[in-house]
Amino acid sequence: MNKAYFKRVFFEEQALDYPVGKAMYDKLKVQGYDIGLLKSHNRVTGIPGKSARESFFQGKNTLVVGVRKTLDFAPCKPSAHFQLPLVTGCQGICEYCYLNTQLGKKPYTRVYVNIDEILAQAANYIQQRQPETTVFEAAATSDPVPVEPFSGALAQAINFFAHQEYAYLKFVTKFPSIDSLLDLDHRGRTRIRYSLNTDRIIHDYEHRTAVLDERIQALSRLLEHGYPGGVIIAPVILEGNWQEEYGHMMDKLAEALSAYRDIHFEVISHRFARKAKSNILDVFPQTTLPMNEDKSRSYKFGQFGYGKLVYNKALLQEIKSFFTDAIGRHFPEAKIDYII
Ligand code: SF4
Repeated sequence: MNKAYFKRVFFEEQALDYPVGKAMYDKLKVQGYDIGLLKSHNRVTGIPGKSARESFFQGKNTLVVGVRKTLDFAPCKPSAHFQLPLVTGCQGICEYCYLNTQLGKKPYTRVYVNIDEILAQAANYIQQRQPETTVFEAAATSDPVPVEPFSGALAQAINFFAHQEYAYLKFVTKFPSIDSLLDLDHRGRTRIRYSLNTDRIIHDYEHRTAVLDERIQALSRLLEHGYPGGVIIAPVILEGNWQEEYGHMMDKLAEALSAYRDIHFEVISHRFARKAKSNILDVFPQTTLPMNEDKSRSYKFGQFGYGKLVYNKALLQEIKSFFTDAIGRHFPEAKIDYII
């Protein structure tokens, strides 16, 4: 199981009215956590932090247990129809994480206890779209796996989707605490993807997450238990001898998983927005993430007016050829969803 890094836990008082909330409270208390109570929803006071860096790390060390009030699910295009909001935030500290610009200056993890209400709302969406199939993504604004041993929200969702003829669930993680999911009767309706990278990139940029071998091992156990699986290789960073390092990663993956056919691959090259770059530099002033705006990058305009610096066309083509070849060689029956 992955280590929990939370140094402080807050409960919204209302969360204790739900059996899941009460059970979490008791579990965390027994484990010795110091628990504060919050009177009002959405006002989390008591997280220290003067500088941007201190606020960030203190936020990352904080768990809030609350009630999800907004039951309008955000869209999740293009990979799913809706986000499934069970958790927001993540205890991991990936320097490039897209959440770093989304969750405010103190990015705490928030777990919701009104899981029945959230799933009832999912049922409404499914019904409205029937007979179309509706896909839900449970990791759009979080990595929900590290808190699963406390909340059991994913297990409940997997059980729910097992009985939905017109829907699928998926989520992605970098953490190995999936033991409680293995024996569920999932009926193949939840696809669990692991986000992978080279040992060096994990070590340099993905702090407080599981090492590569642990991620591969967890994915292999899920596949063994019949789950449809997936691999997201992201962000692909073209540093040093990248072909050799990603080649080594693919070899390890093939060694562990070549017996399985139903694996989807997604490959995403490193990109950054200028705003994200300045936030990253505030929190990680010594970062070695490659964010130079030099010839290796092109500016790509985004949907909402602000763009991103992506690798230039020639480098993107190299990434495409490399991964198409490596995946095709090791996993001839796997599906490549995209390489971007
Ligand atoms: Fe962000 Fe995922 Fe890293 Fe968590 S594990 S910090 S969600 S990139």
